[in-house]
Amino acid sequence: MLEINQLEKCFGDTQVLTSIDLRVKPGELVFVIGPSGSGKSTMLRCCNRLEEPTSGSILLDGEHVTECHGRALDKMRLKIGMVFQGFHLYPHKTVLANVMLAQVKALKRSKPEAEARAKEMLEHVGLAHKASATPGELSGGQQQRVAIARALALDPKVMLFDEPTSALDPELVGSVLKVMKRLRDEGMTMVVVSHEMEFAREAADRVVFMDGGVVVESGTPDEIFGNPKSERLRAFLSRLS
Ligand code: ADP
Ligand code: MG
Repeated sequence: MLEINQLEKCFGDTQVLTSIDLRVKPGELVFVIGPSGSGKSTMLRCCNRLEEPTSGSILLDGEHVTECHGRALDKMRLKIGMVFQGFHLYPHKTVLANVMLAQVKALKRSKPEAEARAKEMLEHVGLAHKASATPGELSGGQQQRVAIARALALDPKVMLFDEPTSALDPELVGSVLKVMKRLRDEGMTMVVVSHEMEFAREAADRVVFMDGGVVVESGTPDEIFGNPKSERLRAFLSRLS
C-alpha cells in the first residue's frame, strides 16, 4: 500500500533521514517510535511531500508519490490522510463546516454530498452531537477526533498520524486512541508516530524504531518491547520506564 525506498532527506548540510525503507501492507498498522529529533515527523511529511525528499522513492498503491507534480500531486495528497499533534481546525467555522470544507474545495463534492459524508464521519468518531459547535467549544480530544473525521471524509488510502495525542491532557488521550483502534479494526492502513507504548502493544502489527534518521530495528510489538536487539532500542525503552 505504502512503500518507502531508500529515502534520504537533508536540510542544507544536515542529513536527517538515511536509507529509510518501509513497507506498509493494506490494513496494517505500523507504529513508529524513537527519540525526539530522530526524523519521525520528517519521514511522515515526506510521504505527502510536505517535505521534499532529497532522494529515494515513495509509492502509494503502486503510484509514485515522489514523481507527482501540480494537479497530480494535489490528487495524490488527498489519498494520504494526515493527523498532526495540533488539530489545525478553522476556529470560526462549525465542526460540520470544518469536515466539509476540503471535500467541497478539493474533491469538488456537492455541498449536500459533503454534508452527508461529514455527518457520517462525525458519527463515526462519536461527535455527531457537536456538528454545530465551533472548535473552541470542544475539548482537545474532541478537536482531534474532528481532525480525524475531516481526514477520513476524503476517503484516504492510508492515514498518517504524527503524535496525535501528545498535546492532549492525559484523560483525553483514551478517546482518540479508541477511534484509532476502531479504524484499525475496520481495516484502515495506518502509520502512527506516538509515544503511547501501551497502545502500540495492543494495536500495532509492526513497530519501527528510528534513531538518528535511520530505522534501527523493526518487528512485532512482542519483539520490539519484549526482546529488543540493539543497544540503542534498549536504552530508549529503559528511559521510558
Ligand atoms: P522527530 O519527529 O523524530 O522528533 P523531526 O523529523 O522533527 O524528528 O526532526 C529530525 C531532525 O531534522 C531534527 O534534528 C530537526 O531539527 C531537523 N529538522 C526538521 N525540520 C527541519 C527543517 N525544516 N529545517 C532544518 N532542520 C529540520
Ligand atoms: Mg516529530
